[in-house]
Order: sequence, then structure tokens, then C-alpha cells
Amino acid sequence: MKKLHILLVAAGLLAALPAHALTITFDYTYDSRGFFTDLATGTPLLERRAILDQAASFYSGFTDSLTAIAPQAGDSWSVQMTHPSLAGAAVTLNNLNIAADTLRIYVGGSSSAPGVLGFANTGYNLVATGSDAFVDAVTTRGQANTTGPAATDYAVWGGMIWFNAAHDWYFGSDTSGLTAGRPDFLTTATHEIGHILGFGEADSWQAQIENGYFTGAASVASYGGAVPVDQYGSHWAAGVSSTYDGSPQGTLMDPSTVRGQRELPTALDYAAFKDIGWQVQATAVPEPESVVLLVAGIGLISLAARRRQAAA
Ligand SMILES: [Zn+2]
Repeated sequence: MKKLHILLVAAGLLAALPAHALTITFDYTYDSRGFFTDLATGTPLLERRAILDQAASFYSGFTDSLTAIAPQAGDSWSVQMTHPSLAGAAVTLNNLNIAADTLRIYVGGSSSAPGVLGFANTGYNLVATGSDAFVDAVTTRGQANTTGPAATDYAVWGGMIWFNAAHDWYFGSDTSGLTAGRPDFLTTATHEIGHILGFGEADSWQAQIENGYFTGAASVASYGGAVPVDQYGSHWAAGVSSTYDGSPQGTLMDPSTVRGQRELPTALDYAAFKDIGWQVQATAVPEPESVVLLVAGIGLISLAARRRQAAA
């Protein structure tokens, strides 16, 4: 009976999600150096992958209707991206099918020099040919006015994230084991997804940068004025703070996070996504407890099982 109760709770939460909730799927095809996979056995490292899904859940309140990318006869598209495990040359992706309201993010990791936690991009040399509707689906996902100096919206097929495996990452769902000096994987994953969703990258972000400040209306209202950005215009400036769940917190999308600390999307971070063109539901901020539930019933059960193992 207890199991039934858990599933009913999860079903109730899922029913409450908006009709076009953004789905982010992670693809491990290029995890060739074993950051998310035990290379000796081929076994997925489920604890790490579950944290990626938890990171994606912070964007599940985005409700834009994204057109499916579904090549038909006469349609083709390709995009190149950095190899997510930095293994060899770039990867060229050809004629991917991507479902409506869905982004696909290729992930991997490898050891690199300290100082960087990870990076993300949405690829380059994107080429699409075929029907007008198909080309529009690939390049804008059906959103209007996404390019140029007066852009007001943004959408993308997906992207890639590389994580630096040299760090002693903390892979916990909650912060109970997050000790000083360890970078928090959930924080970095949520930050990198934010870049793929256009933060610091989209034309509609660049269009609202003036003299080192971001001037988007929702952000200005949240911050109480234009918001300073870093020297590259790709993050908030270091030290910009807002609130998470009503409490003061450094922004997720500033350039760095103190090791041993967790930062999640603040009110100001969500305001910027709204200014970039995402339809952000007011209820988008998952409570810390409900994040686990939003992962879905099966995730809830596996997390509970892991806690038992940890206590044993
Ligand atoms: Zn960043």
C-alpha cells in the first residue's frame, strides 16, 4: 500500500504540470570516457544520471510549444558540436529526430586542468534544407524573431555539456554530504543547461545588453535596476545575488560557485529566462522536497533505495 501511495502522489504532481512542460533528455552516446558509464561493464552510473534529471527539472516550468524536428523525404539537417568527452575531433550529428517540447543534450566528461568545472554549447555549422516548415523547426522550433540584434525569443534543438572529471564532485541529491572544497554536480549541471537555454548566448540575450548591463524588463523588475554582467556578457557579474525559495542566494548564472555550496536558479535567473523569451510559469521553482518527486515515481523509489543503502 505504501508503494501505491507514492505512485499516486507522483501522478498528482505530474498532472499539475503545464501541458507543454519542457522536456530535456540526456544522451550518453558520446560518454566515451566513462563519466556517466562504468566502461568496464557498460553499466550506467545511475546516481550521476539522476542528478542530471534533477537539474533539468528546474526548467520543467518552461511552457513554450516547441515544434518537433522530424525530417521527412527531402528534408535534412546537421549540426556539429564539441565531443562531450573531448575525445578526438568534433562530432557531426545528422538528421536527428527530436520530439516536440523536447531538447536533447549530449553529455560526457574527462579529466582536464583544474579551474574549470564544465562547459556547454549548442553546436555550430547548423545546416537545414527541405520544406520551409522543416527548416523553421530546426532553426527556431516554431518560435518567432529569434535572430539578429532585435531578437526577442529563443529556441534550440539541444546541445552538449562536458564535465571536468578531475574534480571530486559531490553527486548527492540533497546537500547533506556536501562538504567544503567539493564542487556540487547539481549546481554545475543546472548552470550549464541554463547556457543551452540561451543564458549569455541567445541573440535575444545579447539584444538586451547595454554597456555591461542586462536590461530585460523582468530582470530589471526582479533586481531593482539593470543587472551587471561579466566582462564577456555571458553571465551575471560576480557577486550578483537574488533569492532562492525566498532566501538570499548568489545567482546560479554568475561565473562561479563556491565549492562546498549549492546554488539553484534564483528569482533573477528565472527572470532572465523570461526576458530571453521563455514562457516561465510562476510555479517553476520546485521546492527542494518536490524536486525528487518531479523526477517521477520510479526516481523516487530508487532514491529511497539509495538512502537505505547509505544508512546500512
Ligand atoms: Zn557559465
